[in-house]
Amino acid sequence: MTSPIRKVVIAGGGTAGWMSAALLKKVLPHLEIELVESPDIGTIGVGEATIPPIQTFNQFLGVDENAFLRETNGTIKLAISFENWRVPGESYLHTFGAPGATLGFCGFQHFWLRAKQAGLKQSLWDFDLNYLSCKAGKFNKIQTENQVYSMGYAYHFDSSLYGQFLRRLAEQAGVKRTEGTIDHVAQNTQTGFVEALQLKNGKQLKGDMFIDCTGMQGLLLQKALGVNYEDWSHWLCADSALAVPSKRHEHTLPYTRSIAHKVGWQWRIPLTNRNGNGLVYSSQYLTENDAHDTLMSNLDTEALDAPRTIRFKTGRTEQQWAKNVVGIGLSSGFLEPLESTSIHLIQSGLVRLLKLFPKDEILASSQALYNRDSKEEFETIRDFIILHYYQNERTDSDFWQDMRRIALPDRLQQKIAAFKDSATIFNENSDIFRDASWVQVMMGQGIIPKSYHPSAGAYSDEAILSLMQKIYQAKQQPLGQMLSHDEFLTRFTAAK
Ligand code: FAD
Repeated sequence: MTSPIRKVVIAGGGTAGWMSAALLKKVLPHLEIELVESPDIGTIGVGEATIPPIQTFNQFLGVDENAFLRETNGTIKLAISFENWRVPGESYLHTFGAPGATLGFCGFQHFWLRAKQAGLKQSLWDFDLNYLSCKAGKFNKIQTENQVYSMGYAYHFDSSLYGQFLRRLAEQAGVKRTEGTIDHVAQNTQTGFVEALQLKNGKQLKGDMFIDCTGMQGLLLQKALGVNYEDWSHWLCADSALAVPSKRHEHTLPYTRSIAHKVGWQWRIPLTNRNGNGLVYSSQYLTENDAHDTLMSNLDTEALDAPRTIRFKTGRTEQQWAKNVVGIGLSSGFLEPLESTSIHLIQSGLVRLLKLFPKDEILASSQALYNRDSKEEFETIRDFIILHYYQNERTDSDFWQDMRRIALPDRLQQKIAAFKDSATIFNENSDIFRDASWVQVMMGQGIIPKSYHPSAGAYSDEAILSLMQKIYQAKQQPLGQMLSHDEFLTRFTAAK
């Protein structure tokens, strides 16, 4: 390929398609960008919970946060509540905050463990402002440089409405939208590069580079270019979901609920107009009828529709950039929504692509870097998800007992061992979940480290308990100035 990239064609208009269109046009306004979407095929229509980096994505596009929340029926997400995951009846939060404070060379968990030894009563989470806010049902934005008061947050929203929100931005910026169903992907007979998308309505969309956002169809990357899909179902066996909306709660929780059942787990996501619910399960362990009953008998508000089944295969394409096609979104892989990472993977894939975007021809070196980093990122998220399943102590079904027998990927095995031995977390650069996330899930799933760092050991009982008390009191302070989550949404997102 020697010609410069002048025109990019985006195949698909789901969340991935419109996020790609909006960001590419913003960063590279000179490019001609055309997006094709099929009204006959539609989008996957789920995907309601996110993680904090989405704020950066929106800010970069110049999105007004209040308008965005209003138009997507959005709410604030401070955490995920994992219920019944270790054993039935117990729960913990994976928050977007950081328990405690930075106290020097090692993480807060080391000091907390030392304080526990000295008789501390509070849990690790009692030192986390996100946790305290979740328990109080409160939220407010805190502008601070002081890490003690920092409170990471993300959003729950209707991803179809988010797609439409971004569509408006992208079209205003000059992205061309075409309706039609792709019938055929035309490739150069010598190089195999994609040259055009042939639509059923007779139109042909030529381009220099193609972004495959066709969702689970994987029309360009997998079907046309034949890129292999690595199947990870031996690690993560869920292959199905049932999704159903229900009436909204009177009070809007500022967190997602992830409730483990005898087989699989259920999400409850609060939006301003309804709740999103679903059950993720493995068809090896549960029939669709039983899945239906489990979900419908565990709704806490009235269903607004019949449940919809979605089938998937966990894994990723071996390459996410092949020839002149980059797969963004579900076309390039799927990880169950336990940690709300799919929309983030769209964002990080796009940022990576833009960092390596060819000025003239497509470079093998850029492609190799893109594929290496994408693989690593997918794998670290996969490992984080496996941790939740593997580290369980449930005895009520074959499913949970089998999860404890998963043959762990090496990196995860090392991570768990290091934490068990010494409360240490080691992170890869590509890992989007930092120490605080791993610590919360490891401890939440019941791992109590045998030891801690010597610098925490240097404190006397009295000194460590007094330090903990100071941090605890500091964490309580901002709560008094916070609004209830509902008040926040009403006050800040009301149309002006
Ligand atoms: P889609 O939404 O499926 O879009 C595909 C597009 O391609 C559509 O516009 C379609 O019309 C078009 N298309 C397909 N074939 C053709 C053709 N032949 N011609 C023309 N156009 C075509 N992610 C999160 O981050 N958080 C969550 O909480 C979350 N929950 C999820 C729950 C479940 C059960 C599932 C399955 C996924 C969840 N996800 C979640 C993932 C999230 O839904 C997706 O990452 C996101 O919506 C992006 O999807 P997409 O744009 O890649 O695909």
